[in-house]
Amino acid sequence: MSPEPKRKEVFLNMKQAAAFQVSVLASGSTGNSLYIESAEKKFLVDAGLSGKKITSLLASVGRNPEDLDGIFVTHEHRDHIHGVGVLARKYKLDIYANEKTWQAMDGMIGNVPLEQKNIFEMGKVLTLGDMDIESFGVSHDAIAPQFYRFYKDGKSFVILTDTGYASDHLRGVVKDADAYLVESNHDLEMLRMGGYPWSLKQRILGDKGHLSNEDGALVMTDILGDRTKRIYLGHLSKENNMKELAHLTMENTLTEKGLGVNYDFRIYDTDPDEATSLFAI
Ligand SMILES: [Zn+2]
Ligand SMILES: [Zn+2]
Repeated sequence: MSPEPKRKEVFLNMKQAAAFQVSVLASGSTGNSLYIESAEKKFLVDAGLSGKKITSLLASVGRNPEDLDGIFVTHEHRDHIHGVGVLARKYKLDIYANEKTWQAMDGMIGNVPLEQKNIFEMGKVLTLGDMDIESFGVSHDAIAPQFYRFYKDGKSFVILTDTGYASDHLRGVVKDADAYLVESNHDLEMLRMGGYPWSLKQRILGDKGHLSNEDGALVMTDILGDRTKRIYLGHLSKENNMKELAHLTMENTLTEKGLGVNYDFRIYDTDPDEATSLFAI
């Protein structure tokens, strides 16, 4: 029995306020960028398209690069860093990456002033304004690839793409978030039958490549929890996948495991050229 029901109500309302607003600005082998804001901070995770393109994607969700505080870089592949240097210089943004990734990016993004270079080592938690950000390593053919989990007010959001394999440790780190951007890179049959050279197929299929639709769905069955409300399918290959296939595979796999697709949580598509509408977490 609460002696002060009114105060409890206020408290509950406060807890229900959104911790984050997020838009997947672009996702796919051709370029990746995600926007996340809290009451106090506004960040991108990766900027793998031109500065111009990212600016127009931000505008499509009513946001402006001038208001950004920084960019978290996951790894040095071009589809994640193409616009990092330009945006950093133009808007004086803080850039966060681990030391090895900074070394690997040297010569790829032009000059970033020293005071904007921030080291964010794998497995660490950084507090910036009202949010905590945790980095975690993935299995991918870059120097030291890491992705991020954002926390605020007990809510959290996970980005997990560009990994060929999800270890038990990784699954533990990303468990039961409120929302996910998870990799559905390719359909196995399309990749096997398609025109990619054998070596590239092996790279994608390998432990340091990308999660297939099936593997992404199996990882999701393992990590989603009672809190999970939204699953965004990301990093789809243009050549070796289709949105409908990725979506169906996730839906069927989760349904087969007895999970509540479309009532406990929903599955959403992303696009390589179009931002998702802002969603609240
Ligand atoms: Zn990559
Ligand atoms: Zn990538």
